[in-house]
Amino acid sequence: MKSIYLDYNSTTPLDERVLEAMLPYLKEKYGNASSIHHFGREAKAGIEEAREKVAAVIGAEPSEIYFTSGGTEADNIALKGVAYQRKGKREHLVISSIEHHAILESARALQKDGFKVNFADTDNLGIVTGETLQRLVTEQTSIVSIMHANNEVGTIQDIKGLAALAHAKGALFHTDAVQSTGKINVNVKELDIDLLSLSAHKIYGPKGVGALFIRKGIKIAPLFHGGHHEKGRRAGTENVAGIVGLGRAIEIAEEMREKEHARLVSLADFFITELQDKVADVFLNGPRDNNMRVPSTVNCSFQAVEGESIILSLDMKGVGVASGSACTSGSLEASHVLTAMNVPPELAQGSIRFSFGRFTTKDDLDYTISVIPEIIERLRAMSPLYKGK
Ligand SMILES: *Cc1c(COP(=O)(O)O)cnc(C)c1O
Repeated sequence: MKSIYLDYNSTTPLDERVLEAMLPYLKEKYGNASSIHHFGREAKAGIEEAREKVAAVIGAEPSEIYFTSGGTEADNIALKGVAYQRKGKREHLVISSIEHHAILESARALQKDGFKVNFADTDNLGIVTGETLQRLVTEQTSIVSIMHANNEVGTIQDIKGLAALAHAKGALFHTDAVQSTGKINVNVKELDIDLLSLSAHKIYGPKGVGALFIRKGIKIAPLFHGGHHEKGRRAGTENVAGIVGLGRAIEIAEEMREKEHARLVSLADFFITELQDKVADVFLNGPRDNNMRVPSTVNCSFQAVEGESIILSLDMKGVGVASGSACTSGSLEASHVLTAMNVPPELAQGSIRFSFGRFTTKDDLDYTISVIPEIIERLRAMSPLYKGK
């Protein structure tokens, strides 16, 4: 049977070249990077080389990069680290209502701890406008966190403009760039931001490793206490092989970025056009314009069918896709992102996220398109909600 992976936003396969870079650190170069003997120095050198690679790609200084256990931890350190550091001075935070759960739940935890949080709404395309943000940010705001590209619908925000609004009130600005890294240009200088999260396993690196950029001079309260790893901001013996993998993964992603973007734009255009041609009553969620969306994310709502049923039917044909956010599938609650974008609940329920990547081919999409119409027809025939032709 065919086996086609269209869920790159959940995770990506490890690139062979990344595995090769990691292997020596899983075998002979097993030292603890804190040790001062040559075994330790060898591991330390691997970490510092990776730090330089990450910094170079995002326009930061190596000393501004802190390795974490992934995007979730980077998001937690950014939001909570700044909130606790500025406690007693500024106790208000602003995040968007379409953030990943790592930011959403961190903000909710801070709310329980007495911080005030405002959630910035988006327009129908999932965009946080300057006017919306301006209304929410005050002289009491410690940090604003708005993601660069959304994981469910792919919408790209005007981070530079939003960061300027936050800075005007003396607030710091963080962006979750997990879904934009390697896909579009991500440069902390050009965007003029203070903190940024990224994750290796979304860019063909290993799971369980990520990085947080913290601009020089910004103080954060650490969440982990222990040894002096990562300058005391993230205690714990470093995941050396993982960090080396992240360095290699981001380097490769940057080398391939522009060509890949163009290739994915044409795949996405083909896919959206074909889908709308072959299936009635299917709607794209998020911007159609590939400059406003990462092209690798195509989120569609099929009227009057359950997303979960489509996932299972496609899986029986060998195609792996997601509905809403992977973390919430299994629950029938409509996605918080689609809800924020004012997608009606009955359409949000029938949403599918197709996400493409480095190993997606036109043949994969041809096959997927060929099996969808009969699946949708069959499900609609059983649906009491469908009033189409
Ligand atoms: C996957 C993802 C995360 C979480 O990263 P992990 O490395 O899996 O912890 C955070 N934010 C976004 C936008 C993501 O897509």
